[in-house]
Amino acid sequence: MQLALSAEDAEFRDEMREFFTTKVPQEIRDAVRDQRELTKDQFVTSMRILNEHGLAVPNWPVEWGGRDWSALRRHIWHEEMQRAFVPAPLAFNATMIGPVIAQFGSQELKERFLPATANLDIWWSQGFSEPDAGSDLASLRTTAVRDGDEYVVNGQKTWTTLGQYGDWIFNLVRTDPEAKKQAGISMLLIDMTSPGVEVRPIELIDGGHEVNEVWFSDVRVPVENLVGEENRAWDYAKFLLGNERVGVAPVGATKRLLAQAKQWAGPLLDDPLVAARIAELENELLALELTALRVVAHSADGKPHPASSVLKLKGTELQQAVTELVVDLAGPASLASGAGDDSDLPWWTRRSTPIYLNFRKASIYGGSNEVQRQIIARTILGL
Ligand SMILES: Cc1cc2nc3c(=O)[nH]c(=O)nc-3n(C[C@H](O)[C@H](O)[C@H](O)COP(=O)(O)OP(=O)(O)OC[C@H]3O[C@@H](n4cnc5c(N)ncnc54)[C@H](O)[C@@H]3O)c2cc1C
Repeated sequence: MQLALSAEDAEFRDEMREFFTTKVPQEIRDAVRDQRELTKDQFVTSMRILNEHGLAVPNWPVEWGGRDWSALRRHIWHEEMQRAFVPAPLAFNATMIGPVIAQFGSQELKERFLPATANLDIWWSQGFSEPDAGSDLASLRTTAVRDGDEYVVNGQKTWTTLGQYGDWIFNLVRTDPEAKKQAGISMLLIDMTSPGVEVRPIELIDGGHEVNEVWFSDVRVPVENLVGEENRAWDYAKFLLGNERVGVAPVGATKRLLAQAKQWAGPLLDDPLVAARIAELENELLALELTALRVVAHSADGKPHPASSVLKLKGTELQQAVTELVVDLAGPASLASGAGDDSDLPWWTRRSTPIYLNFRKASIYGGSNEVQRQIIARTILGL
């Protein structure tokens, strides 16, 4: 594999670097750098600036705002964005529902939703999981019954990330209760302001609000909001989940955190055990980055490669390992999460344990890591 960039690609990298470090407001990039929670407005502002310059949805078909970039350029775009602490385009929009509508939606749905999705005029939520349908997604029970030109939706979704900001939700619903589990599922786009939709917060252990339950009681959804064909959504969901897995392998962000950790380590870097631990993580991240490049390069027609499961598994393991390293570097100060900004302790030490705890989620969402191992065993290793 050729590791040095060509002159053209190096020029492209410089352009991206210049854009990301000058066009996205500093206060948003500072919030990402200091791992503070972003407001809805900060996400929207940042994605709109990217979209205005054709940099929000390069993975989409060109017709809908995508860029005909090589896999390497897409990687450079992503790397430079993360290096500059620019928030990534909202995944629900950019890597989940956008590509599904572009691939499987009617022309009418594409025109109606894709420009607004790229510009974050619509904030999408993901309504897949239910209390008894997480890993076993095909067990979902939320129903949609056709009544004239509408579906009537009843049921409950759970773990809906940032659903409190959601304008619309892409929802998996059961439209044929008689068919084999996978064969009776459809995808509906639902306006979250429709009567009968209720978003209920799930309170996290630290008191934060990141996930929600979404309840549907006799919600009427126009038939034209169906994506693709009725009862065929299992294929669309698999397509979306493959993209989601690539998206949750946060190589750039983990590299950035590791680089910050090296600075924070200071004299601890002279400890051979700390130095060896950092070197090992750097090597593993490099190996993962090269794998990510190979996977992107081999994804045909926008379809995710099965190795996306490897990226999800390894990417989240390394992300968790780096958050754990930061806790160890902080030492006892990592327990002082209640200390305020007037404390003498550096902010990163105080934030290290909440961040470590929060990222326990990474091996669960986007399909749990145990399930990724099953996919790798079956589809890649043929076991
Ligand atoms: C923070 C967070 C945010 C999320 N955001 C969203 C969202 O926005 N929208 C959405 O739709 N969903 C979301 N999810 C749901 C997520 O996709 C599910 O939690 C996940 O798929 C696991 O399902 P489950 O929680 O029902 O666990 P279960 O499927 O009940 O699994 C329980 C345990 O059994 C293991 N297990 C299950 N099946 C197998 C198997 N076949 N082989 C080996 N082990 C197995 C699992 O790995 C796990 O350890 C989110 C989850 C979290 C934690």
